[in-house]
Amino acid sequence: MAEYEYETHEYDVVVVGAGGAGLRATLGMAEQGLRTACVTKVFPTRSHTVAAQGGIAASLSNMGPDNWQWHMYDTVKGSDWLGDTDAMEYLAREAPAAVYELEHYGVPFSRTEEGKIYQRPFGGHTTEFGEGPAVQRTCAAADRTGHAILHTLYGQSLKNNAEFYIEYFAIDLIMSDDGVCQGVVCWKLDDGTMHVFNAKMVVLATGGYGRAYFSATSAHTCTGDGGGMVARAGLPLQDMEFVQFHPTGIYGSGCLITEGARGEGGYLTNSEGERFMERYAPQYKDLAPRDYVSRSMTMEIREGRGVGENGDHIHLNLSHLPAEALSERLPGISESAKIFAGVDVTKEPIPVLPTVHYNMGGIPTNYFGEVLNPTKDDPNAVVPGLMAVGEAGCASVHGANRLGSNSLIDLVVFGRAAAIRAGKVVDPDSPNPSLNQASVDKAFDRFDNVRHADGGTPTAELRLEMQRTMQEDAAVFRTDKTLADGVKKMEGIAAKLDDLKVTDRSLIWNSDLMETLELTNLMPNALATIVGAEARKESRGAHASEDHTERDDKNWRVHTITRVDGQKVDLTYRPVITDPLTTEDEGGIALKKIAPKARTF
Ligand SMILES: Cc1cc2nc3c(=O)[nH]c(=O)nc-3n(C[C@H](O)[C@H](O)[C@H](O)COP(=O)(O)OP(=O)(O)OC[C@H]3O[C@@H](n4cnc5c(N)ncnc54)[C@H](O)[C@@H]3O)c2cc1C
Repeated sequence: MAEYEYETHEYDVVVVGAGGAGLRATLGMAEQGLRTACVTKVFPTRSHTVAAQGGIAASLSNMGPDNWQWHMYDTVKGSDWLGDTDAMEYLAREAPAAVYELEHYGVPFSRTEEGKIYQRPFGGHTTEFGEGPAVQRTCAAADRTGHAILHTLYGQSLKNNAEFYIEYFAIDLIMSDDGVCQGVVCWKLDDGTMHVFNAKMVVLATGGYGRAYFSATSAHTCTGDGGGMVARAGLPLQDMEFVQFHPTGIYGSGCLITEGARGEGGYLTNSEGERFMERYAPQYKDLAPRDYVSRSMTMEIREGRGVGENGDHIHLNLSHLPAEALSERLPGISESAKIFAGVDVTKEPIPVLPTVHYNMGGIPTNYFGEVLNPTKDDPNAVVPGLMAVGEAGCASVHGANRLGSNSLIDLVVFGRAAAIRAGKVVDPDSPNPSLNQASVDKAFDRFDNVRHADGGTPTAELRLEMQRTMQEDAAVFRTDKTLADGVKKMEGIAAKLDDLKVTDRSLIWNSDLMETLELTNLMPNALATIVGAEARKESRGAHASEDHTERDDKNWRVHTITRVDGQKVDLTYRPVITDPLTTEDEGGIALKKIAPKARTF
C-alpha cells in the first residue's frame, strides 16, 4: 500500500471546480452559512468559463416581447426532445431571476439606450413557440460575458467567506461502503502535499471533456475529471454520445468565434459566395441551431463548395457590419481573428470550421443537482452526499443539442439550485462522517501507481491517439462502420493506460503526472461517448447517423446510461422525464405545445 502523509480538512460542503457553476454553487452555500471549501486545479478566474463570449439566455424582454414559456419551448426543441422536461422548465422559469441576481452581484452587462441589460439574437431562440421571428434573448457583456460573470462571482464568494484551495488537483472521491460520498482526495500542485477533504456534500463542477478530441474550442484543462472520478466510483455517465460541434471555430487553431457574430448580422458563405444557410434553414438561416448549421457546412464542403486551397472550410462574413458595431459589440473576436487567422474582420471573411465545443452528456442529476444512480426499480435514485453542476453534469436541460447561451444560464441556475438543496439536506450542526479509510487508501494507491508508471507509452502519444480516433470516428456525421471501427480502436487505446510511461516522479509542479491523471479521466469519457454513439441507431440532435437518418422516438427517446470500468463499458437506458413541473392551469406550458414533432427551421 502506498504511504502518503496527508492533512485532513473538515467542511460542510466541498465544491470541486471554480468555473461559473462551481463559483455560483460556492457562493450560494457560503451565503447560507455552510462551511464551504472550493477546490480548483487552476486559479478560479482562469477556468474555461472565462472564455465564454456571446452571452447568457434569459427571457427579460428588454428588446421585444418574450416569455419563459417560449424559452422553454426552444430549449425542448433544441434538445431534440431528449431533455428532461422538469429541468428544462426550471431553467427557463428561473433564468430571469438568476440574471438579475448576477446584475445585482455586479456583472457589468452591456446596456441599451434606456439602461437595460443588452440582449442579442442567438441560434434557435425564437418567439411564439417557434412560429415567430428570432428573439433577442441573450444577455451580453460585449463579447466577454463569461469573463465578467466569473470575476464577479469570485469576488462575491470571497466576500461571503468561502475558502479557496487553489491549484489543488482532485484525484478521487471518497465513498462509504454503502454508497455515500464522504469527500475527496487532493494533491496540492505547488508543494506536493496531499489533502483529504471530509464533507457532508461534495459538488462536482469540473467542466467538460472537449480535450478528448483533437480540435476543440475548450481549454486544455477541460479533461472531464469529474466524469473520470464518478466512473471510478462505479457511478454512471449519461448521454455521452451527444457532443456539440460549434459551427465557427477558426480554421486551424480551433479558437472560437462566438455565435454572437451571426447574432449581430454575420453570415456564412461557400466557395461560390452563396449564403447557403438560406437553402438549409429558410426561416432562421444562419441562426438555426448549432447541430443544424454544422451539418450544413459539412455538406457544403463534402459537395465541393468549401473555400480555401483545399476546399476544406467555410467563410464567416462580418465586413458588411459597421466598424463601430464590431468594436463595441465584438471586440474580442475581432482580436482573435487577427491573431489566429491573420484576418481584419472589417475587410475580409474569417475562415471557419465546425469544432468540438460542448458536452451535452455528463454526470446524471435531477434538477436540484443531486447525482443519480439509476436502478431498475428507480431510474431517479439519488447518490447521497454527491452533486454535479455545470458542463460536468447532465440535468438534463440540453438533451441531444444545446442552444447557444443556454450553458451560462445552466451554470448559474443549477449552481444556485444545488446551494438551495444543500441548505435543506446538509445539517451544519451534525458531526462529519468518519471516513472510509479503504476508499482513501485506494485513491492514494491509484495515484502512486500512475506516478510510478513505467511502461512503454508516453502520455502525450496515447492522448494524441485517443484525440485523433475520436475526431475521425465520432465526428459531425457518423456511420455504423466508423463507429464500430472507432469502438474497437478506442478499446485498444484505453487498454494502453496500463502501459503508460511517466518520466517525472516528483510531487512539485509535476505537469507530466498531472497530464497523465487527466488522461486517465479523459479516457472513460471518450469511451462512453463512442460506445454510446455506436449503440444509438437513430439521428437526434448532435448525433447524426448516415445509416439511421431519422429520429426514432419509439425506441430511442431514452437517456443512455454508461458505466465504464477500464475498457469495459456497460450500457443501460433511463426514461426521459416528459412531465413539466406545472400544468397549463397553473400557468405552465401546454403539453401539446411540447409534444415531439419534426425539427425544422
Ligand atoms: C470558447 C468558449 C466560449 C463559450 N461561450 C459561451 C457563451 O457565450 N454562452 C454560453 O452559454 N456558453 C458558452 N460556452 C460554454 C460554457 O462557457 C461552458 O459550458 C461553461 O463555462 C462550463 O462551466 P463550468 O463551470 O461547468 O466549468 P469550467 O468553467 O470549465 O470550470 C471547471 C473548473 O473545474 C476545475 N477542475 C477541473 N478538474 C479538476 C480537478 N481534477 N481538481 C480540481 N479542480 C478541477 C477547474 O480548475 C475549473 O475551475 C463557451 C465555451 C467555450 C469553450
